[in-house]
Amino acid sequence: MKFLCVLCALCGFQSFALDREAFTFTNYDLDVRIEPEQQRLAARGKLTLRNDSASAQKNLALQISSTLDWRSIQFEGKPAQFVSQVYTSDIDHTGALSEAIVTLPQPVPPRGAIELEIGYEGTIPLDATRLTRIGVPEEVAKHSDWDQISRSFTAVRGIGYVAWYPVAIEAANLSEGNSVFSAAGKWKLRENLSWLKVTFHHSGEGNPVLLLCNGTGGQRAYERMGRAYSIATECSFNPPRTTVPLFAIGDYEALDRRAVNISYQTADKSGAEDYALAADLALPFVNDWFGTQREKPEVKAEVVELADPEAAPYETGTMLFMPLARTNSALARLTAVHQLTHAAFYSPRPWIYEGVAHFMQAAYKEQENGRQAALDFMGLHRTAVADAEAALAAEHSQNAAADESLINTSREEFYRSKAMYVWWMLRDLVGEPALKKALAAYHPEQDKEPSYMQNLIEAQAKRDLEWFFDDWVYRDRGLPDFRVQSAYPRPIVGGGFVVAITIENLGNAGAEVPVTLRMEGGEVTKRVQVRANSTGTVRIEAPSAPQEVIVNDGSVPESNTSNNRFTIQK
Ligand SMILES: [Zn+2]
Repeated sequence: MKFLCVLCALCGFQSFALDREAFTFTNYDLDVRIEPEQQRLAARGKLTLRNDSASAQKNLALQISSTLDWRSIQFEGKPAQFVSQVYTSDIDHTGALSEAIVTLPQPVPPRGAIELEIGYEGTIPLDATRLTRIGVPEEVAKHSDWDQISRSFTAVRGIGYVAWYPVAIEAANLSEGNSVFSAAGKWKLRENLSWLKVTFHHSGEGNPVLLLCNGTGGQRAYERMGRAYSIATECSFNPPRTTVPLFAIGDYEALDRRAVNISYQTADKSGAEDYALAADLALPFVNDWFGTQREKPEVKAEVVELADPEAAPYETGTMLFMPLARTNSALARLTAVHQLTHAAFYSPRPWIYEGVAHFMQAAYKEQENGRQAALDFMGLHRTAVADAEAALAAEHSQNAAADESLINTSREEFYRSKAMYVWWMLRDLVGEPALKKALAAYHPEQDKEPSYMQNLIEAQAKRDLEWFFDDWVYRDRGLPDFRVQSAYPRPIVGGGFVVAITIENLGNAGAEVPVTLRMEGGEVTKRVQVRANSTGTVRIEAPSAPQEVIVNDGSVPESNTSNNRFTIQK
């Protein structure tokens, strides 16, 4: 009979096509019990969903990590009809989800909301299947997908890593370019105004261990019976686009400094102190850029140690997970600049929030080691940007321009690396004082239109930047490709030369680019604006015989740099 029922249910689905992304999860209220000794997680609670599709929906999907199982789903106090299946998707570290397909008694009309009572439980072991099955060596994969609940280490990231709270997303596949990032990005955008409230419960013996999360709340209850203890911690995540709800449990010590709070394991105290020092040293530089925004409440940067010394660091908002066992001080200062920038400057737009933080690292590098060192630092990102643009151009032609603009993109290569270059170019265009003032005038709650930032910068720079934002921010027009079209030296009265240099831009994005004229015993650099598919001319005086012209010092990301040098014939 049971078999028959499953069949009925399946027939039911066919008459109502399942639209996995029809519902928005507007509210979560969960009690989550974590037992590190057993690697277990058990959740009970309520979910509110709203039908944001254009048609009535009788079925809906609820997905959790494949190592968790659905225990109950209730609607209006009665068990809801559902079947559970394994759904292959790389949105979870296991490469699969436990998907419950729920059939409701009546269809939910468009904009209609429902509440479900749910229960699920299981284990969250270390699992890097989604990486190993596409060929990543296990030894490497486990340092990247390090999420787990275990006796020795517990840290679990949400969407894009472990589905520890229910989601509903069409399958994503790591072998298909940006599919996983894009699916996670779309989900975060859909859930931008949702609330996820979790009360975590954990217990143990001896010294109580700490539960950390990146939401607001704190410890609500603490009970002790002999050696045994139990702790309840409340965490309200309001997941905007720039954060991922996560939690960690561990025997952490705290190092609380002015700019940063570090949770570390006792054995790595010196690593924690090294990072605290790095943050102290980086703080004046960050304050110099953002210190004027005093009216804002102080946000503190948080560091949580990853026990695995090889683990890949991970940031979400102002929280950074990283190993502290071996700290390189120059690298730590650079990391701290990024993190402190997040604490000092918030934007809901990833290209601003992350782009500015990466730009600040380059600017810090410049202050410490000079412009060339900063350009070399940015150069580490250049190939990633150029490759992503090339892949995108091959993938789809027309629609890509708007979808992958800095405003809309979910690609890290864009909202991090390309955006970093955009901020660097903006500083080159308008000057540092104007850019600082524009950033100081930025208020995230007023950032309703994509052009808000452009207007702020224009107001300080007294300069039209529409062309630049069009080519780099509002649209994805790929990268410029500069070549030196010609360089004509003309002797001038009294000695020396004037060289007329024409730069051609073969790409679809315009930029202002440095042009360097090398001559006997020296060089001179000037900047020239070259719009997409056009030319720009600059005249440079040379006191001695001109030898060579080089366009672009690396400050403008370019698709082809093999044609940037030009030898001037005698
Ligand atoms: Zn960041």
